Amino acid sequence: MIACLDLEGVLVPEIWINVAEKTGIAELRLTTRDIPDYDVLMKQRLKILDQHHLKLQDIQEVIATMSPLEGAQDFLHWLQSEFQVIILSDTFYQFAAPLMKQLHYPTLFCHFLKVEKSGKITDYQLRMKDQKREAVKKLKDLNFKIASAGDSYNDIGMLEASDVGIFFCPPEKIVSEYPQFQVTQDYGQLKSAFQNAMERFSTGS
Ligand SMILES: [Mg+2]
Repeated sequence: MIACLDLEGVLVPEIWINVAEKTGIAELRLTTRDIPDYDVLMKQRLKILDQHHLKLQDIQEVIATMSPLEGAQDFLHWLQSEFQVIILSDTFYQFAAPLMKQLHYPTLFCHFLKVEKSGKITDYQLRMKDQKREAVKKLKDLNFKIASAGDSYNDIGMLEASDVGIFFCPPEKIVSEYPQFQVTQDYGQLKSAFQNAMERFSTGS
């Protein structure tokens, strides 16, 4: 059994919203909840960073002040005692590092930023398209059972490909669009949902 977790909105706050707050650039608040097309969203973010002359280290300084969501470390610790856990995120390794340290370095599959020597972020590189869905499909090819949890549009592929897909604190809109996934609103409920998945997997139902 493998548990796949989204990162932002499930274990840590939205990185870009924090960057928007700390820099005072309101346009950076948009996330995949607002703009489902990730490429459109990222191109817009990079353009805004460039307009404001913000470099990678400026963003990293903001991220270094962030902490995991309250209860996230305990939840992850419990989950790792029952499942092998892989975090499937559409963030970037350069951004995630300080938060991964606080979560004791769980396995993370995400993407890369292309950065000039000066620190200017010039582009981003998806490791592959639709990586969350593809990762789950490939793990299933290895005969693992997969339960996954996410909060947003970029998690739908992962949730659909999994044996059990769970929403964690999702916006209302996405719940009505995808009513097939169980909705959880706190770590207690999320833990129960994973426990139910374990039961299902162990009884083969
Ligand atoms: Mg998320």
